[in-house]
Amino acid sequence: MTGPTVTAVELLHALPALAPYARTATLLRPSAGSPGPYESSVGGPPLWPVDEPWPRCRQPHLVYVREKLTDAEREAWQGIARNRRQRRRHDGAHVLTAEEAATQSRIMDGGSLDLIAWERVRLVPRPVPGDGLPMVPVLQLHARDAPALRRPPGTDLLQLLWCPQDHAEPEGQPRYWGPVVELRHRASAETGTTAAGPPVPGGAKEVYLPAPCRLEPVEALDLPEQDELPEELYESVEQWAAGRGTDYNRVLGCLPGWKAGGWPSWHLTDFTPLDCRCGARMRLLLTLDSGGDPGLNVGRYGELRVFSCPEDPDHPMRLNIQ
Ligand SMILES: [Zn+2]
Ligand SMILES: [Zn+2]
Repeated sequence: MTGPTVTAVELLHALPALAPYARTATLLRPSAGSPGPYESSVGGPPLWPVDEPWPRCRQPHLVYVREKLTDAEREAWQGIARNRRQRRRHDGAHVLTAEEAATQSRIMDGGSLDLIAWERVRLVPRPVPGDGLPMVPVLQLHARDAPALRRPPGTDLLQLLWCPQDHAEPEGQPRYWGPVVELRHRASAETGTTAAGPPVPGGAKEVYLPAPCRLEPVEALDLPEQDELPEELYESVEQWAAGRGTDYNRVLGCLPGWKAGGWPSWHLTDFTPLDCRCGARMRLLLTLDSGGDPGLNVGRYGELRVFSCPEDPDHPMRLNIQ
């Protein structure tokens, strides 16, 4: 692998005003393998206390539901189409009246229509039967592999598990649609292994089941994107990068891929500050990426980011997909 010809270190040297924004990120670099429970991994078997129950998701899952339109709905829909055709013949107008648009959106009810079967297709939350769906291990990170990452005192092992299904704004996660995530901070020396290994849930979404990967972590300086920097400073940064024939974003700052710590990119939405309930601005803890050897697909081939509270790692984390 060849590194970039210019580095964030050179940029910091040229623009010392950036120094307060520099963070050490650990790029995790997963590649296909058969990791054991004592290694850091993506999709590998986690170290697990023998007497600790495996986490299960009991939150509603989003499933596609098809509903037959009522005769009245079907007639209303066909009536609108008829009226539109007449108007088009008459004066070439294609627009729907406000009333027709309202009727259509009431019939679609947040979904889409299958006009061959005359069915409405919607994603709706459905309760999970029984005692929930077992979560799957997604990431296990030993402190020795990401020493720059802040951890609760006395712990040296961070685990991320998720429910491999879609959820709409699960508990504590406003404006988030995706897998429900759980974190575990542990002391590895006090953690045994599960005898049987984690159960594989039935009915999981394939794109949320990571293929087992080993990690090849490297540390890198990471810098924030435009909206998290003072305007003048960002202009100097862009000029510096352009003068060296490189991009700033995703090359020198907001480094892409699986990482621990560092800065998040806000390429889909504009910068959306996430504040903890204690008032502190939350910080990027982990970034999980789509594609590559783990073979995940979050959002539309995006990144799932986990933010934690810098004041107290026990405060609830927040999730965001870009
Ligand atoms: Zn779930
Ligand atoms: Zn907090």
